Amino acid sequence: MLHRTIFALVVLCLSGPSVHAQAPNALSDVPPALLEDIVTGSRVLADFGVLDAFGHVSARDPRNPKHFLMSRSLAPALVTTDDIMEFDEDGNPVDARGRGVFLERFIHAEIYKARPDVMAVVHTHSPGVVPFSVSKTPLRPLYHNAAFLAAGAPVWDIAREFGATDMLVRNNAIGKSLAQALGDKPVVLMRGHGDVTVGPAVKIAVFRAYYTDVDARLQAQAIGLGGDVTYLSAEEATKADTVNLVVIDRVWDLWKRRVQPTLGK
Ligand code: MN
Repeated sequence: MLHRTIFALVVLCLSGPSVHAQAPNALSDVPPALLEDIVTGSRVLADFGVLDAFGHVSARDPRNPKHFLMSRSLAPALVTTDDIMEFDEDGNPVDARGRGVFLERFIHAEIYKARPDVMAVVHTHSPGVVPFSVSKTPLRPLYHNAAFLAAGAPVWDIAREFGATDMLVRNNAIGKSLAQALGDKPVVLMRGHGDVTVGPAVKIAVFRAYYTDVDARLQAQAIGLGGDVTYLSAEEATKADTVNLVVIDRVWDLWKRRVQPTLGK
């Protein structure tokens, strides 16, 4: 009898409600493909060296277009779908549950607020791009994959409005200034810092982040050869950008395979 009572108590302890039970995933009603695109974009840009320990990829929240989805503070190469959090229109986490958040989340918040057409935002410290953020030489489309640069790549200088700072977009006012500099363009360079690319889908914003970096490296090489450099004409750029958007799924499928072994793990 005693044994049976002890056995029953042990079973009760083991099967009772656990205080360590996981809270239900607040993003369970977000399409998994969108969360996976954020993971793929983060990891592939890290793989290409466009992102290092810093930088982030976000998407507008399809459940509430004023909100956006972005990883907790984590190196992009390590991001999984479980790390993605919801943020409100001012960049506040909706349900932080103790998770750390990116300091520069205001980049994303203010761009989603200013640009209803933007569904995804990427912020990088791309080594190829930084020289063009501190030079008077404008970044221009040198080849077809970077045709979107024909719209112009403005350079935003944080010092113009905010004086000597630590260069980081650490509040809404700085984010708003950056969003204004972006205007209706797909890319804005940040002086002495990096860039931001935007797009109507995660894969397009990621494509633009990658090819902005590649184009910048190629442009510096072409300038280094000396003499005049021939860039894409406006008409060529329009035609090439149309083709890029048609074939982007092929690019995205390849990039997904590149990071798939670790996707969602
Ligand atoms: Mn940054």
